[in-house]
Amino acid sequence: MSFGNVVILLGPPGAGKGTQAKRLAESTGFLHVSTGDLLREAVRNETELGLKSKAIMERGELVPDELVSQLVEEKFEKGSPEQGIILDGYPRNRAQAEFLDGILGEAGLLTINISIEDEEVVKRISGRRVAPQSGKVYNIYYSPSAKGEYCEESGEKLIQREDDREPVVRRRLEVYRRETQPLIDYYRQRGRFHDVDGGRTIGQVAQAVSRLVERELSQEQP
Ligand code: AMP
Repeated sequence: MSFGNVVILLGPPGAGKGTQAKRLAESTGFLHVSTGDLLREAVRNETELGLKSKAIMERGELVPDELVSQLVEEKFEKGSPEQGIILDGYPRNRAQAEFLDGILGEAGLLTINISIEDEEVVKRISGRRVAPQSGKVYNIYYSPSAKGEYCEESGEKLIQREDDREPVVRRRLEVYRRETQPLIDYYRQRGRFHDVDGGRTIGQVAQAVSRLVERELSQEQP
């Protein structure tokens, strides 16, 4: 398989990787690969992989590498990775990073590390409320529904995702520190690595991310 540019978004849960990846995919046309979204879809569809992953995700731990790698490969095969890829939530440990190296070969990498304080993560994630059918997301601290516990648009009762509960968020942060944070050095040493402050507004972070992508990727033009 041939790959275009590959942008890896690193950072703890709640840093805004998903939001930024979606925006960047829209502006660049790159394939957005979020292992969290792929896993949640597998859980919803009750596939074998989804059934194996559900309880692990609800505890805030990492799904086994071989299951996640299988999903990533399938997504690459179905999409058009030669257009470019944005990886969001993958890789999450050293073994996944090495597996990814094996698939990508010589593809050009750009890594953007979005940083954020732990307490901000807890507020962003444990404050999240979701309309189960429509998927609309609110935050009780930053963007509450005008209808309180009900969705402004659909009127559905809002719920808190199991893995958004505070004790699980703290567990996810621990797992991040132990498993994923070491990848910062792994990718920093490879060059084309940048830090972005994720504590700012979505628009400000998006601007910083897209400037980096434009700058780094335009350097590749002949
Ligand atoms: P996310 O939406 O990226 O925070 O992912 C939600 C949950 O899915 C995580 O807490 C993990 O349980 C699981 N997950 C997502 N991506 C991975 C990955 N690359 N490796 C292992 N587990 C993952």
